[in-house]
Amino acid sequence: MRKFIILPLLFLFFAGCENSPYVNVVSSDAVNHKITVVTTLFPVYDFAKNIGGKMSDAILLIPPGTEPHEYEPTSYDVVNINRADVFAYTGDFMEKWVSGILDSVTNKNLEIVDTSKGTEIVNGDPHIWLDFAHDKIMAKNIADAIIKKDPSHKDYYEKNLQDLFAKIDAVDDAYSKTISSCKTKEIIYGGHYAFGYLTRRFGLTYDAAQGLSPDSEPNAKDLIELTNQIKRDDIKYIFYEELASPKVAETISKETGVQMLLLNNLESLPKEDMQNGKTFIDEMYKNLGNIKIGLDCK
Ligand SMILES: [Zn+2]
Repeated sequence: MRKFIILPLLFLFFAGCENSPYVNVVSSDAVNHKITVVTTLFPVYDFAKNIGGKMSDAILLIPPGTEPHEYEPTSYDVVNINRADVFAYTGDFMEKWVSGILDSVTNKNLEIVDTSKGTEIVNGDPHIWLDFAHDKIMAKNIADAIIKKDPSHKDYYEKNLQDLFAKIDAVDDAYSKTISSCKTKEIIYGGHYAFGYLTRRFGLTYDAAQGLSPDSEPNAKDLIELTNQIKRDDIKYIFYEELASPKVAETISKETGVQMLLLNNLESLPKEDMQNGKTFIDEMYKNLGNIKIGLDCK
């Protein structure tokens, strides 16, 4: 009988007390506590969800369908981070707001994961998750933090990490095989410069209409050059991005007659896809499907 009385009391007490050591108390054996992992971008969320499985709740701060480069954190984000066991983000170069928000976080037991630790950042390009080697490093960093907070389920988390590694290796192989058969190796992107890592990994050339951030305006001279390049190289398709306006790609498409294909940089997923449980790996296969069409591969 005793525990039926204590549990609601504990809940009432801590629900009304923001600064209480919420995490420590609910993780006691008296309550079936799940590890809470608060994440920022979709890839980080997806990896945390895969590794934590049924022992963990992954929370995504940046709402689905939101362009994350200029994200402004809300007071709910502070509350969520304060109640979390683990906070995982891409890196200070991508979520520039993280250091500021962590200043107002009072949760002393929070395990903070800069998932980029150990990755190789090239030319200041923040889109590190678009290199499958980086994905494994990011996933390992997340797993280490989860295991540190919940060592009693170490074997479970490690098994999930190995399963995720196997999926990443498989999609990486699929890219290698498909791209080796492509008739053209040139990707023209009517969005911001997000695919530097992916195209470098698979020996493709890559030109984007905009710079590293979706807010950078493409200038007229660059667009004319891109249009000329499409005509000169007999390009048949232009790739466009999901979130930022596809207007640039549309303009180039009208100008040159090339068709448009989606290449999602996975900074975010539309709400519908999130609700349908689409994963990072699913979306990378979908991207490969469009690369196969766009670059005329077997
Ligand atoms: Zn971006």
